[in-house]
Amino acid sequence: MVITDIQFLVTGFRFEEPMKVAFATITDMDSCIVKILTDEGITGYGEAAPLPFVTGDNLGTVLAVGKDLRDALLGMDPRAIGAVHRVMDRLYAGNGAVKAGIDIACYDIAAKAAGVPLYKYLGGDDPHIHSDVTIGIDAPEKMAEKALEWVGKGFDILKVKLGEDVRTDLERMCAIHEAVSGKARLRIDANQGWTVKDTLWISSELASLGVELIEQPVAAGDFDGLQEIRMHTPILIAADESCHGIRDAMRLASMRAADVINIKLMKCGGIYPAIKIAAICEAAGLTCMIGCMGESALGNLAGMHLAAALDIIREVDLDSVYILAQEKVSGGFDHRGGKAVLWDAPGIGCTVKGESE
Ligand SMILES: [Mg+2]
Repeated sequence: MVITDIQFLVTGFRFEEPMKVAFATITDMDSCIVKILTDEGITGYGEAAPLPFVTGDNLGTVLAVGKDLRDALLGMDPRAIGAVHRVMDRLYAGNGAVKAGIDIACYDIAAKAAGVPLYKYLGGDDPHIHSDVTIGIDAPEKMAEKALEWVGKGFDILKVKLGEDVRTDLERMCAIHEAVSGKARLRIDANQGWTVKDTLWISSELASLGVELIEQPVAAGDFDGLQEIRMHTPILIAADESCHGIRDAMRLASMRAADVINIKLMKCGGIYPAIKIAAICEAAGLTCMIGCMGESALGNLAGMHLAAALDIIREVDLDSVYILAQEKVSGGFDHRGGKAVLWDAPGIGCTVKGESE
């Protein structure tokens, strides 16, 4: 089987409500469905969802780099995923989103050719996924209201965005804790917004509220800061913006600067490199979370299949499908609140609107 064409179908999503995080307020997201055609009539779909201030790429670079990658990959077997990545990495460093889009489409093809759902193709046997849902930064009472609303919709793990002034952040968490205590597990993501001192001050307070995990408290490049925080707080520390690929994972693991690594396909370049990051974590005694950018169900589903296949991915943060207003993709999973079950259909299992398969 060989690749006969790779097409990039530009799409975009609007958040039902603007999502405020420590470094930006996000109202909409560019995204690109990646469609790979083969000479055997099997078509694969992936998604490239760049987030410029995290991944360093944008829709323009996805399309420009994507064109070059297409030219280099034509005629290759999409199932030879290691070779596909070798070609992509030789042409371009970084550019995780477009590489992820191509990687996901190749895996979709490989699993369809094998006649099994992607999670089974990847070695998994349990299609159940349990995701958190994210609450953006707002006034404490508004965030508490939002938390109650999500709990009412059946979500029982909340990931709360913080990372502004620590004292106001603590008020936010106290309000949320009061609203949903006992009904939801709580974790927070500071998106690089705090200093080491801030984090150490607030973490003992957060521990008393039962917060189980603090994600990316300090700047992405501050590995020493992460290490210091991890040594002095009882709460699990997760690295997100600090970990893009295998070298970051190795460094975090060897410095013991994190307990958890948040893998995102758009940061690392797809499922193939994500499996390598997961293996580093497993060997080093860390666990993994799998997260997402503003993706459609397609990107989220690729992450769900991977989470269903790898035991070391203990936490799932694949919620853009629940938050984004526009939906270009249907099917592939059913869910009740944050608890989802993948369909027993070949490949990723979803349908892209306007496409025949
Ligand atoms: Mg994060």
